[in-house]
Amino acid sequence: MAEANPQKYEIGDFVIYRMQMDTLPGLRNNVYAIVESEGITLIDAGYGFGAASLINKNIKKISIKHNKKLNKVIITHSHIDHFGAIGKIKGNFDTYAHMPDSNVIKDFRNSLYTYEKKLKTFLKTSKTPLPTAIQIRFLYKTHKILFNGYPVKPINEGKFGDLEIILTEGHSPGHICIGLGDAIFTGDHLLPNITPTQSPYFITPGCGLENYINSLKKIAKMKYRIAFPGHEEPFENIQSRVKEIIKFHENRLNIIEGACIGRTIFQTAKKIFGKKMHGYHNLLGLLEASAHLEYLIDKGRISQNNGIFTKIA
Ligand SMILES: [Zn+2]
Ligand SMILES: [Zn+2]
Repeated sequence: MAEANPQKYEIGDFVIYRMQMDTLPGLRNNVYAIVESEGITLIDAGYGFGAASLINKNIKKISIKHNKKLNKVIITHSHIDHFGAIGKIKGNFDTYAHMPDSNVIKDFRNSLYTYEKKLKTFLKTSKTPLPTAIQIRFLYKTHKILFNGYPVKPINEGKFGDLEIILTEGHSPGHICIGLGDAIFTGDHLLPNITPTQSPYFITPGCGLENYINSLKKIAKMKYRIAFPGHEEPFENIQSRVKEIIKFHENRLNIIEGACIGRTIFQTAKKIFGKKMHGYHNLLGLLEASAHLEYLIDKGRISQNNGIFTKIA
């Protein structure tokens, strides 16, 4: 667990606390507590016992200091590192997420089952070798299988107390960013160094590279000064980071356009990501490649025949 936890920031009249915590193997998440007029709002809930106890300890301290109670938790999106510890957070509060992510969290077992079925088909159409496909399906479930679902209320775009809810679909279909004064909490949508993983919309409607890029442009237009991301450090220069990420995907599209000819989705992913394609990264690589391939097909730059990509004549 991090030293100097939590870190304090002041945004206008609001105080924000950033708690950094280890969640999944190799992953650190930020969970934020905002001292609002009505009470304390938590942005995301981390994952794991360590995360839960760190959040509970800090909320207790913040509550005493500001004489306010935790009254709501807002989840940026339905990825387990952002909400997995929600059931272990103490207090009398309501939890919110945007649809369809709110439904995923609420009915997690069922969503897991539905996604698994889609994944099975996807692994077949991408021509993933059977042993790798079996491993991917097994790894997909680890961690997630421990979560049973949690009562989450749906939230809409627009004003929500002192906050502004902004739908930024792409990385996940109901992903939201949350504005507060000149600050924006960006979840996984906008991170200072990492480019969040992409998934094709044919597997998860609301995902897809085009949706993601449109949501990046949406944020860039809003002129927020500082971003508080779900991972890594807070940062300014939101507009230039958006441009950088769009450029990154344009470049990746060009590389994949060249690499996919005569190959399957699996072979294209292997060609692009090489040694990185192992364990859970096999799935992330397949989804990332597939999201770009889907975009290239939609734009009429390539076509697909029997699972093999071809140039447009
Ligand atoms: Zn995510
Ligand atoms: Zn994340």
